[in-house]
Amino acid sequence: MKTGKKILVAVLIGLLLFICFLFYNLFSYKSRQIKVATVKEMPVSESAFYRLASSLKIKTVSTESGLTMDSLEFNKFSDFLSTNYPLIDSMLERVVVNKYSSLYIWKGSNPALKPVILMAHLDVVPVLETELKDWTHPPFDGKIVDDTLWGRGAIDDKIGLIGIMEAVEGLLERGFIPGRTMYIAFGHDEEIGGQNGAAAIASYLKEKGVNAEFVLDEGGSIVQRMVPGIEKDVALIGVSEKGFVSLELMVDMEGGHSSMPNSETSIDIIAKAINKLRSNQFPAKLCPALEGFIDELGPEMPALNKFVFANRFIFEPLILDIYEGSAAGNALVRTTLVPTIFNSGVKDNVIPRLAKATINIRILPGSSIDEVINEVKGIIDDERIRTNKNDFYSEPSKTSTTISAGYRILNTSILEVFPEVLTAPNLVIGATDSRHFESISADIYRFLPIYINPENIKTFHGINERIAKRDFNSAVRFYSRLIQNCN
Ligand SMILES: [Zn+2]
Repeated sequence: MKTGKKILVAVLIGLLLFICFLFYNLFSYKSRQIKVATVKEMPVSESAFYRLASSLKIKTVSTESGLTMDSLEFNKFSDFLSTNYPLIDSMLERVVVNKYSSLYIWKGSNPALKPVILMAHLDVVPVLETELKDWTHPPFDGKIVDDTLWGRGAIDDKIGLIGIMEAVEGLLERGFIPGRTMYIAFGHDEEIGGQNGAAAIASYLKEKGVNAEFVLDEGGSIVQRMVPGIEKDVALIGVSEKGFVSLELMVDMEGGHSSMPNSETSIDIIAKAINKLRSNQFPAKLCPALEGFIDELGPEMPALNKFVFANRFIFEPLILDIYEGSAAGNALVRTTLVPTIFNSGVKDNVIPRLAKATINIRILPGSSIDEVINEVKGIIDDERIRTNKNDFYSEPSKTSTTISAGYRILNTSILEVFPEVLTAPNLVIGATDSRHFESISADIYRFLPIYINPENIKTFHGINERIAKRDFNSAVRFYSRLIQNCN
């Protein structure tokens, strides 16, 4: 054979082997979903749903910092918990933190076991005056129509809080004693950063030397028809969350009359900087949480998707491309940056001295606020622009493992109550109170047992927030199973 032919044959054999290798990967890409034994469906008290309704009537609204909170309503909520959950009130220790947050301590029988922390927040976001008319039923009436409860807090996050309370009260009623100590932490200011609530509870626990097996907070949910290629509902367990920082960019330079403009004004400079930042995006990549998501759900997908995911090492650029195709997908694969405030000028014929813009940045785990700020300054590359970090920020979280006892307990409890779903780890885009607990536990998970689908996703912090009784009862069952499985 001629040398040229030999090379061609060698290349073809190599190619064939490579294709075999890709198919080998496909066929060895087996489902990683765990199987759990079915458990008898636990009855939930008929009145539980009405207690959730009553809790929505209490306007525990967190307003933007600077405005005073309605302390009367927060006190009312505190009393509501004492009166409606008498066993918890008499049998668990309750530590009140910064007046309105509560930490319940349910002593375990075995001090050798590490404790578990369940979290929820009792505050809700405000309802805009202008949107009141768009609500089918008023947001603070706790109205139940056809077994659906309407109101602010129905899914964020009073369902979590009341779900936990109902589960614990029910277990106490049945004489259940936990092996592990269970801490139940309810912050009162999650919607405005959690500094006085969850962060203060975490400091209290740290002072006591608490090191938890795992922490569970809101963040993930059961999504319906929202994972392309998967028909089944998917319970997403948040194993990490993005960081958050806002930067104010400011230029202060000579203004003047608009009849004789200089070649560059403060507005031009800020606009140029924003333009540069928007056209030089942070690189896309798969963070460990998303890799975990792909590994868990890839084998459940149709053949073509499965082939791509099974061979992530060569198809990663294609996978990233697909994610970048939608705003929601894009947010999962990169640190995002967007201008949210733009400010300059007061009069049509005056060139302003001052121009300002605020950019909001959501940081992918693995990076940091300092790293991102340096990058931003590098991209802007203009000494005339001053950059100031806003007071409210948070670093991206660490990534919790999926091979811990905590993850297994959580995964099992989900499947016991929702046997028809698939489960997978995921990255949480928003910030949760759990980020304040990183020094209390290595394993922080974010999951709220509610269904989120394209129809109800907008009700989150939006109009017509609501929950069906059946779904609320499942949430109570979930927390009950979880507590039992911890022990
Ligand atoms: Zn929330």
